[in-house]
Amino acid sequence: MNIHEYQAKQLFEQYGIPCPKGAATSSRDEFESCIDSLSEGLVVVKSQIHAGGRGKGTFTDGFRGGVKLAKTKAEALEFANKMLNNTLVTIQTGPAGREVQTVYFTEGADIEKEYYLAILMDRATSAPVVVASTEGGVEIEKVAEETPEKIFKAYVDPTIGLQAHQARGIAFKLGFEGKQAGACAKLILNIYKMFWENDADMVEVNPMISMPDGGVSALDAKVSFDSNALYRHKDIVAFRDLNEEDPKEIEASKFDLNYIALDGNIACLVNGAGLAMATMDIINHCGGEAANFLDVGGGATAEQVTAAFKIILSDPKVEGILVNIFGGIMQCDVIAQGVIEAAKAVSLDKPLVVRLEGTNVVQGKKLLADSGIEITSADSLADAAQKIVDIVAAN
Ligand code: GDP
Ligand code: MG
Repeated sequence: MNIHEYQAKQLFEQYGIPCPKGAATSSRDEFESCIDSLSEGLVVVKSQIHAGGRGKGTFTDGFRGGVKLAKTKAEALEFANKMLNNTLVTIQTGPAGREVQTVYFTEGADIEKEYYLAILMDRATSAPVVVASTEGGVEIEKVAEETPEKIFKAYVDPTIGLQAHQARGIAFKLGFEGKQAGACAKLILNIYKMFWENDADMVEVNPMISMPDGGVSALDAKVSFDSNALYRHKDIVAFRDLNEEDPKEIEASKFDLNYIALDGNIACLVNGAGLAMATMDIINHCGGEAANFLDVGGGATAEQVTAAFKIILSDPKVEGILVNIFGGIMQCDVIAQGVIEAAKAVSLDKPLVVRLEGTNVVQGKKLLADSGIEITSADSLADAAQKIVDIVAAN
């Protein structure tokens, strides 16, 4: 789960991580009071969307910059008014962009130098890793590719956590000295604490800055959390912004379905994540493209299957559906019942191929055959995939 920068900064404050003072609002009426709550001087006006690259982004009406520096209050108001409810396109949003529904005002910081700092989960070592670079503010991917020697990493032993000497080591490698190195190390340690205690999977600060007065500060914040751990972080769940999520994925999460929307036109309803992946692969192999990943789980109820069916059918891109169930714990007749109920509830008008195998398969197939719904049945995974790809291609 992702959160907005202004929410991440609230966490930064709780953890004693220095960052510019700010105020956020979704209402034009509150722009002035937000600006007035900050000390006088430079104000940074920041579009809040769950995507990076805002500074270099462009709005669909041609207005440039999702992060703007305003010298006067009037200028800050003008920028905020242009941003709110406008659609911002950045390298991370895709061409459709995202509507800005919240604007964040921060006190302008005096930047001496910009650095990159992130803590994330490293898949190879299954442990957190601190990643830092002297080349902050620019695209870190480019630095990684062209000048990888400018990126430093410190792997963390999760049983003992990030050690003070490791944090100081990074600060020194970034070129900090004396008191400032201490301030940087403290910032890194506090970010680690926040990362660890909240089950984050990434905290990225780009840029972290050094200031002429000797301070260090987190100017930007991109934070995401492990969704599987959210049950023990009610305060983090409260940050969830449904405006930023695919409505189909929101609906799926209400029914505990593992659903991810994709770009193709063949919807899949499968039990088990591995089988769902294999189903998507074989659809691809047969020349088609999956419209979604959907794992209804090992013990889905007819109600969940009905919900799953409604969700995949609400996607206008879908031109055909492949149901692929292996009944182990799951019973084929339960799936069949769900498919029938859903097909009736939504008056199904898309081609449907069903492959059932396993527990209660005979009862399941009979239910489908007697339902009066037009269904193409398939015997094997390859047969099922080829059938749905052919049917969709012929339509
Ligand atoms: P992003 O483009 O989505 O990564 O948004 P950032 O919050 O990182 O802002 C983009 C850039 O704006 C930063 O890399 C800075 O160069 C600049 N910027 C942001 N806040 C300030 C500030 O307080 N003072 C100054 N001088 N520049 C800022
Ligand atoms: Mg940034």
